[in-house]
Amino acid sequence: MKILLVAPKREELKYARKIGEEMALTMKDFQVRVVEVSNLDKEEIYSLKVAKGKPSTYKIERILPCIADSSKIRFIAQLDANVEDLLPILYLHLKRSNYLEALDVLTFTTDKEEMITIYGNGRVCAGKVKDENRAKEILLKLIDLLSKAYDYLSRHGPPSVEMLEARRKLNPNTVYNNLPKLNCEKCGEKSCFTFAIKLISGEKKLLECKPLIEEEKYRKNRELLEKLFNPLL
Ligand code: SF4
Repeated sequence: MKILLVAPKREELKYARKIGEEMALTMKDFQVRVVEVSNLDKEEIYSLKVAKGKPSTYKIERILPCIADSSKIRFIAQLDANVEDLLPILYLHLKRSNYLEALDVLTFTTDKEEMITIYGNGRVCAGKVKDENRAKEILLKLIDLLSKAYDYLSRHGPPSVEMLEARRKLNPNTVYNNLPKLNCEKCGEKSCFTFAIKLISGEKKLLECKPLIEEEKYRKNRELLEKLFNPLL
């Protein structure tokens, strides 16, 4: 019997590392990141009390030089509503996000590698942002997402523990194991594993794997992956 060893491609390693870094974020790292981005003390973060609701406006309170990248800015803003009930929904929706219920805080990384932190009381802090215009764009997009999360909450109630648990388990191996594993390149990637990694990073969509979408024998896998990637549908 021949055993064929296939070394991971450089591109696969690069993306696996990127995802690994995102997913291996420990509780300590998470808190350090939160503090680095906001540069606010605990009192300043949690003292503000705002009523729960659907956020519709924001106020940028401070614009400061970015600590991680001196060519960029970081900002601190305040939404006009408490969004603590919406954070778990956003966590399900945003692939590159971490949610810490105990701290009532969600962080996520945008496709431009900006780091955003949202607190339950509507405080928003962001780092690695290009300029003030981009900050406004981020906040408007965030309000739009939170409004959708609010509508979801009104219709379906809070996400179940099972949904949150499935989201926490989302990793390249789980995804890869449910792909057809044909390495047919119809999705534009050299291998199913690369596709799995890019699905998690948000660079690819399930629809791009034609065998998975079109062939009946993969129906169960497709349904499972759809639930993992689009739990709010
Ligand atoms: S189209 Fe699907 S089966 Fe083909 S390589 Fe991409 S992920 Fe794998």
